Amino acid sequence: MSEEIRKYEPHSWEIVETDFSEEGNLQSETIFSLGNGKIGLRGSFEEGFYGEPENSIVGTYLNGIYEYREYQYAWKRPGFPDRTHAMINVANILPVEVFVEGEKVIMTPESAKDYKRILDMKHGVLRRSFVWTGRQGKQVQIETERFVSLDSLNLIAMKYEVRPLNFTGDICIASVIDGNAGNNAGRKPEMGALKKAPTYIQESAAGESGCYIVQKTYKSGFVIGSVMENDLQNAVVKQEEYLCDERYVKEQFTVSAEQEKSIILYKYIGLDAGTELDINALVAETHESYMCGYEELKRRQEKCWKEFWENADVWIDGDDALQQAVRYDAFQLMQGTGKDGKTNIGANALTGEGYRGQTFWDTEMYMLPFFLYTQPEVAKQLLIYRHHILPKAKERARQMEGCGALYAWNSINGEECGFVFEAATAQYHINPDICYAIKRYMDATQDEEFMIQYGAEMLFETSKYMAHRGCFIKYRNNQFCINVVCGPDEYTPIVDNNYYTNYMTKVQLDFAYDTAKWLKEKYPQEYDRLIHKTEIDEEEIELWKRAADNMYLPYSEELDMPMQDDQTLYREPVDIKTIDKERLPLLFHLHPLNLWRYQILKQADIVLLMYIMSQDFSRETKEKIYDFYEPKTIHDSSLSVSIHSIVANDIGRYDEAYEYFMKAARMDLDDRHGNTCEGVHAACMGGTILAILNGFAGMRIYDGCVHFEPHIPEKWKQYKFRVVYRGRTLEVHADHTETSYTLLDGENMEIEHCGQRILLEKGAPKVMKLN
Ligand code: BGC
Repeated sequence: MSEEIRKYEPHSWEIVETDFSEEGNLQSETIFSLGNGKIGLRGSFEEGFYGEPENSIVGTYLNGIYEYREYQYAWKRPGFPDRTHAMINVANILPVEVFVEGEKVIMTPESAKDYKRILDMKHGVLRRSFVWTGRQGKQVQIETERFVSLDSLNLIAMKYEVRPLNFTGDICIASVIDGNAGNNAGRKPEMGALKKAPTYIQESAAGESGCYIVQKTYKSGFVIGSVMENDLQNAVVKQEEYLCDERYVKEQFTVSAEQEKSIILYKYIGLDAGTELDINALVAETHESYMCGYEELKRRQEKCWKEFWENADVWIDGDDALQQAVRYDAFQLMQGTGKDGKTNIGANALTGEGYRGQTFWDTEMYMLPFFLYTQPEVAKQLLIYRHHILPKAKERARQMEGCGALYAWNSINGEECGFVFEAATAQYHINPDICYAIKRYMDATQDEEFMIQYGAEMLFETSKYMAHRGCFIKYRNNQFCINVVCGPDEYTPIVDNNYYTNYMTKVQLDFAYDTAKWLKEKYPQEYDRLIHKTEIDEEEIELWKRAADNMYLPYSEELDMPMQDDQTLYREPVDIKTIDKERLPLLFHLHPLNLWRYQILKQADIVLLMYIMSQDFSRETKEKIYDFYEPKTIHDSSLSVSIHSIVANDIGRYDEAYEYFMKAARMDLDDRHGNTCEGVHAACMGGTILAILNGFAGMRIYDGCVHFEPHIPEKWKQYKFRVVYRGRTLEVHADHTETSYTLLDGENMEIEHCGQRILLEKGAPKVMKLN
């Protein structure tokens, strides 16, 4: 996309908007979303939206809070999930209504001038300003500011400033909680979106002792409380009123306003939910925030964001548009990630309803690594979430007539929601992906306590499932095969022996075997407890080893290279360059039978393996694989381009790597897939950051050592990032001539730069020339 048609001008720490067209409103609401991992709030306007209702989705989401919806099948077969569940859109807590002589202030292209909205990513604050002119010519300047607190997870704080520019007179200001909000079926109602308000109101109140709405879901049993406390400053209040009906609470002030004097409304919002909720406690907590005051709460917000950026920031000098995008990616990942061990990251983070708030393999393969190497504690919580839903994974294994545990392909609470089983349940690689994340976490933190309490149990249960899902096939030389699966590439489902799935299962089973041996030797009591709990025995553990050692991996002798699956070469070849762009993404335009029969890949599959298991494959193999699969990949999934960038870097195709990288980096800011309106592409955001660390800086971690092979795209002047590994914090700074490595914290460590070992001591940077 050319720079000229960019909607948001490049700014290194900000997203700035100066136009509020109706056409782009849904995308902007996504882009200007705020969140803290628990609450997500789309960037809608406090006054409401002037255009057609379908061009705005006011979204307030609570991570992990959902409602069920039954699936309807023409023929429901064994193992098909009965129902799905989706994150609900709770009460709208945003509204601030301002009336000047009875006329409502709302931004329309005619009435609003000097519009500007700024998302300040450094401090986690959203600001907006405009000048409004009413029909009688009265003008007010509006300035708003809000944040979703990282410091106090139930809190949203807002500041709404009204300044009469050319008159003195009465103004009416009202602050509202609107319980009429509901879910938006979006473009995919057939995929289980909730069609209407999924809650009923249990209680609402407006008065001195509290303004709130309590909602309850019909089926899932969640109670959601939305509380507000308002504080009007700089105003002579003539009248203050509370209004309340079942779904709507309002506090309204009539004030005498003076020309050029600002009236400021501070709105403190408390949001919480659970299967039980004490609304009075939430009212009290919101009151505490009110007592604390907006400026102090904002200072705390800024402090939290400062701490986050310290290790998470990737600095790129020489390309502001890119710098902005990379920071935006890290910003939304932080905002969208649950950090309590009970919640996770949805595919659209907390910015929209596109994937219904559900978690996929995206977490382990794309987002978790970002946290693992910047804030390992968050990575740990994401893995604990998987442990939290392990009972559901065990239930799913039974439903699928297996043993052990099979994680749901997409879910919030652990129940399988994927109804297109060919590309959902069939993606058994979710099990090895989770185990791979556990393995990496262990390597990066050496957190044995975690392994004993959580990791080993997940590993053993899922290994049991995988070891019995496949079998030794006589006519494949008694090798271990896993038939009828879908690998990461969803355009070739129901294949035998997907290379990625088999390879990752091999890695998992080896790891499970080694972990069992390690536990038995080092923590025999814990070992006994775990094998008892997971009902495994020595024979089962030996089976893991045998399956791993004898894993079948499809290979073409003729082409002398690995094959994505057994059928790869026998599908119809097609030149994907001849496919009309209007028909993308293909899954929305072709019958599955007309999609699956071709050599067309939706996304990186075996190419992804070349990156994550990089050390196991020669450069020659990687080149062969890239050259064979890249021309067949249509990238209909946003998870694809970043991976192609990394592997292109790895094999020295730097221009291609840069091109792919740019496609990933501004995926949402430039709305490259045309569906940012439904929420950001969180996995792509994780992938973008990995494409810098693992791609341009060539970082790989194996054998307990961090390896780098840095280079720098021509357009950049320099770049810098930090990596946390085994208690050390390392800073890497590369430009066109050299790379310097500085150990900022922790004990001495050895790293590798382009194959050369170097010892790093704290405070003594090592400078290496670029090859
Ligand atoms: C991709 C999956 C991904 C899901 C959620 C799909 O389009 O093919 O790999 O997990 O989106 O992001």
